[in-house]
Amino acid sequence: MSQGSTSAARTDEGAPPFLRLFGRYLRDQGLPVTSQREAVARVVFESDDHLSVDDIESALRETGERIGKATIYRTLDLLVRSRLVEEHDFGEGFKRYEHRLSNHPVHEHMICVECATVTEFESDELYKIENRVRAEYGFIPVRRRLEIYGLCEACQDAGVELTTEGLICPIEII
Ligand SMILES: [Zn+2]
Ligand SMILES: [Zn+2]
Repeated sequence: MSQGSTSAARTDEGAPPFLRLFGRYLRDQGLPVTSQREAVARVVFESDDHLSVDDIESALRETGERIGKATIYRTLDLLVRSRLVEEHDFGEGFKRYEHRLSNHPVHEHMICVECATVTEFESDELYKIENRVRAEYGFIPVRRRLEIYGLCEACQDAGVELTTEGLICPIEII
């Protein structure tokens, strides 16, 4: 990587598109584009998973980066504000993060209450519901969130059976 005279030049040099956008967001906010922030953002942008802070921390450790949890949290906060990354609360007692660069940027989630596996799906029906509320209530939908909790196929195959408590409050059995 060639050295530019400004952090802007350094960040834009061969960086993935989302990393460049994040760099631009930081500069617009008057915040420095630090290598630590870039490293955290890179982990999120390069993953197709719904990452916890622990996941991000261990991914950073694998690449030899030593970045404290406080910096990770702060960077994730900035990523969410930039709208490049979405934050999820799947009832596990911590947040998960995914970037919005995916092949299907609008998708919903199924969460297994046994193994916490998150599966994405798309739903045309939800667009119809949005159109209906728009027609019926004059409400303009901007975004939405649908999470379906249940038992994934792998867990069913492994003989796991749903308990009533699991359906009512997944957080308690995870
Ligand atoms: Zn499962
Ligand atoms: Zn997702």
